[in-house]
Amino acid sequence: MPAYDANNIFAKIIRGEMPSYKVYENDKVMAFLDIMPRAPGHTLVLPKAPARNILDIAPDDLVAVALAAQKVAKAVVKVFNADGVTVQQFNEGAGGQVVFHLHLHVIPRKNGVPMKPPASEKEKPDVLSDHALKLAAALKDT
Ligand code: 5GP
Repeated sequence: MPAYDANNIFAKIIRGEMPSYKVYENDKVMAFLDIMPRAPGHTLVLPKAPARNILDIAPDDLVAVALAAQKVAKAVVKVFNADGVTVQQFNEGAGGQVVFHLHLHVIPRKNGVPMKPPASEKEKPDVLSDHALKLAAALKDT
């Protein structure tokens, strides 16, 4: 497996060098909106520590990401009045991974509504801002 590259886009977001629509943060984890959502509210949950994917993440960071993903899943279902939620995570190019800092996709789902294809359309900034505000409010104090 290739080494972790500290210049990947998510590492830059975690370091505050690039902007994001942040919805949740604790000492080990950060969650922000996917800018090309497969459904409204599509959120990414990441460890702050460097990890390429499930093959190299430290166990305690993986636990922290899983626990945060559950909080985010509950919040997206509530805020987007969803009927369900899809959680996805890809590993290496062969596994469908494009950005090589581990992340869980948390995607609210409605009955009968298919997800858009991956990275098909960039959402408008005002829509992302609105969704991030609502999710951050739902996640506050969780
Ligand atoms: P994966 O690596 O799991 O295949 O997917 C990477 C995800 O990152 C895609 O869903 C894509 O839409 C998202 N993405 C790519 N570039 C950016 C970015 O600059 N900011 C955010 N928030 N998401 C991004």
